[in-house]
Amino acid sequence: MNHENSARLHEKALDCIVGGVNSPSRSFKAVGGGAPVAMERAQGAYFWDVDGNRYIDYLAAYGPIITGHAHPHITKAIVRAAENGTLYGTPTPWEVQFAEMIREAIPSMEKIRFNNSGTEAVMTCIRVARAYTNRIKIIKFAGCYHGHSDLVLVAAGSGPSTLGIPDSAGIPQSIANEVITVPFNDIDAYADAIKKWGSEVAGVLVEPIVGNFGIVEPKPGFLEEVNRLTHEAGALVIYDEVITGFRFCYGGAQNLLGVTPDLTALGKIIGGCLPIGAYGGRKDIMEQVAPLGPAYQAGTMAGNPASIQAGIACLEVLKQPGVYEELDRLGAILEDGIRSAAAKHGVPIQLNRVKGALAVYFTDKEVVNYDDAQTADSETFGRFFRLMLEEGICLAPSKYEAWFITTAHTEADVRETLAAVDRSFAALASTR
Ligand code: PMP
Repeated sequence: MNHENSARLHEKALDCIVGGVNSPSRSFKAVGGGAPVAMERAQGAYFWDVDGNRYIDYLAAYGPIITGHAHPHITKAIVRAAENGTLYGTPTPWEVQFAEMIREAIPSMEKIRFNNSGTEAVMTCIRVARAYTNRIKIIKFAGCYHGHSDLVLVAAGSGPSTLGIPDSAGIPQSIANEVITVPFNDIDAYADAIKKWGSEVAGVLVEPIVGNFGIVEPKPGFLEEVNRLTHEAGALVIYDEVITGFRFCYGGAQNLLGVTPDLTALGKIIGGCLPIGAYGGRKDIMEQVAPLGPAYQAGTMAGNPASIQAGIACLEVLKQPGVYEELDRLGAILEDGIRSAAAKHGVPIQLNRVKGALAVYFTDKEVVNYDDAQTADSETFGRFFRLMLEEGICLAPSKYEAWFITTAHTEADVRETLAAVDRSFAALASTR
């Protein structure tokens, strides 16, 4: 495959965009370096790079894409929004309709606020939890990424740890000191943290199904026990469903798992591929937010008609019968095929899957927390990533990212992918 135009573009980008990318996860640093492939067109399950190569897309823009690229129903909504003005700075009918749709799907979000990104949504959940409890400390799980605000860029995960940076410069130690980090799926460690700091804790941030070191499900009873211990300590449970919201079912992972947080942060999918974030939860807690209460949060672009109307259109597509069943069916075919190819070629992998999202780890160790995920071999992943890219299959350039199937992927796409996996595993095996 020829990548000359990507390489040329990257040279120019390096001169004017820091690191040549607008988000560090897009760089190829974690897969051996070089110019990242630049895309210029996307349709359905495919995109095309600046050299005209076609790829089947499992990156899904790190999670927002679930109806495929340029879905006609969403495109129509965006065009309609553009023709009517994309920004008003006033209340609009669509934001009310959308808030009602989200609340119907995720009933724990009794009251909602829209903003512009997952980072903002999580950041504000923390402020609201602090305002409500009059406490400062936050507990999070190691390896889970909750956006790039100072508050949570501590032992973050797929973002920073991809680059081998466990933390970020520029974050005051005093802020990092307020964040307690505990291994996911380790209820004893969580109980210890609550015992030690419980009376100072405002809230715990939880990805109910982790999407930031692959895909990791909670052990049975883990989330229930986190809820119980947290509430017993007088703190709030905040679910970061920025990745998981509407990914596995029409609603949050909380609906799928039957667990209820006090606050929820959303982003990614609910914007129909335009920028968005949202947070919401129990009415009495959300009433801390201005103009009703003392916790301030605002946004010039918040609830903008374009993102909201794209989001409504996206949820309308996802609400159709059979959508999540089909994602699960294709996910199962992909899982079975990858497992068979790994066994055939003697490539040791672990594979975690929930419905249409899966993670392949090059390790012998079962992956239930971040330490396990870190045992995945980075060099093998880097080689696999490049082999797959040359096969026309686009994955995220990080051993910690999931593969996402969209409603645009067909069984033929999955079979084409499996043929590429088979050849790539053969290549890995032949040079070990
Ligand atoms: N929370 C989670 C779980 C995420 O995966 C992400 C982004 N990958 C964020 C928050 C931050 O969202 P955004 O990039 O929209 O700010």
